[in-house]
Amino acid sequence: MIDVINPATEQVIGTVSPGDVAAAVAAARAAQPGWAALPRAERAARLRALHEGLSAAAPELAELISAEMGAPLPIARKVQVGLPLSTLASIIELLEKPEEPERVGNSEIYREPVGVVGAITPWNYPLHQTVAKVAPALAAGNTVVHKPSEVAPLSADRLAELVRAAGIPDGVYNVVHGHGDPTGAQLAGHPGIDLVSFTGSTVAGRKVAALAAANVTRVALELGGKSANVILPDADLAAAVKVGVGNCLLNSGQTCTAWTRMLVPESRHDEAVELAVAAAAKYTVGDPSAPQTRLGPLASAAQRDRVLGYVQRGLADGATMAFGGGAVPPVGYYVAPVIFTGVDPDAAIAQEEIFGPVLSIIRYHDEDDAVRIANATKYGLAGAVWSASREHALAVARRLRTGQVDINGGAFNPSAPFGGVGHSGYGRELGRYGYEEFTAVKAIQL
Ligand code: NAD
Repeated sequence: MIDVINPATEQVIGTVSPGDVAAAVAAARAAQPGWAALPRAERAARLRALHEGLSAAAPELAELISAEMGAPLPIARKVQVGLPLSTLASIIELLEKPEEPERVGNSEIYREPVGVVGAITPWNYPLHQTVAKVAPALAAGNTVVHKPSEVAPLSADRLAELVRAAGIPDGVYNVVHGHGDPTGAQLAGHPGIDLVSFTGSTVAGRKVAALAAANVTRVALELGGKSANVILPDADLAAAVKVGVGNCLLNSGQTCTAWTRMLVPESRHDEAVELAVAAAAKYTVGDPSAPQTRLGPLASAAQRDRVLGYVQRGLADGATMAFGGGAVPPVGYYVAPVIFTGVDPDAAIAQEEIFGPVLSIIRYHDEDDAVRIANATKYGLAGAVWSASREHALAVARRLRTGQVDINGGAFNPSAPFGGVGHSGYGRELGRYGYEEFTAVKAIQL
């Protein structure tokens, strides 16, 4: 049995037991032809019923996710549950449009289901990362075997109940609990899996890809990040820093797209630090269910220790802690926000994913230097550019080696392709690109 621990109280709130991967894959294989044979409109209707069920269960799911991984309740409602609802809605909309094969000369190109999808997800946005895989996979006519994170597994069980209540047949969505190794590894290496869709750390993603390769199984990897927030000299500094700090601290910094490196011009460095410290000071750390809380605990004791280890490493490597070390509740896996200045772009805290509320402010000399620093990590998931000129910001955004860039605080778009380059992985989720990831292309010549 695996205990599920509330990171705010350190109390056990549930248990899950490791599942049987082979039995789940067999169930998914058996259900797949029947599910794929349903007309698109019928699959769309079942997914719409799931959306209704999920909407009705939203308040309860927000509380469950907050309890298992520590997100403050308003964030759990808006992001942890709100985002999967919009993701599912956008996939249903796509499915409700009739299928139009693309014409290439004398060929018609069709997108068909891949077969059985193995989905492996992490704990930081447990329902969102699940729905980002399960919704398009099911829409395209695949069936799914899902291994949720052992740290936050409870929302997957609730989702499975809602899937059944929506009239989606048994075997279409299967949940298998367990640790990454052996359960996740068994799933990634199972010959009955046609596509592994993995979200998690680069270390585990590399293992998953190697296991899948033995069966020539397709793989999509959504991995870590070390994204740069590039603030150009003519930017609205107050907005860029405030939004940048908020982005870094969202979900206690446990967000793969977090802008953890703030790149500021030398001429505006001190002003930016002052603004960042003032912004971070407004983040009340504490009980996720208290209305004033903006920063809950980290998801586990291991994650808290890892983050505190990086804070020590930053100090040992010569960075200055401009903000941090604030008091936290005595019980719970809390870390108060930390802002480092004087960070060497090559230092561990500027290169490695910390996955906690830790921001590094880095100076640059000129625009080329900013782009060079932004691109000088092995990751490439997200990023930001701020400038008074949108055209100028766009030109800089095009030079960043990354999967997505927000200009002047451009809002997250749940229909835009999401994914990375380099050690942030490959493949795309969300919207049409995410749907197509779960399809196989067939050309029919006429
Ligand atoms: P993790 O890699 O430890 O675990 C992710 C999932 O993989 C879990 O379900 C885990 O049990 C499983 N797993 C671990 N080892 C495995 C193995 N050898 N074989 C098969 N499965 C295995 O990551 P985590 O700590 O749960 O999540 C945090 C990481 O996820 C961060 O690095 C973060 O950046 C990344 N992440 C990426 C995205 C994205 O979309 N790019 C989104 C969220 C999180």
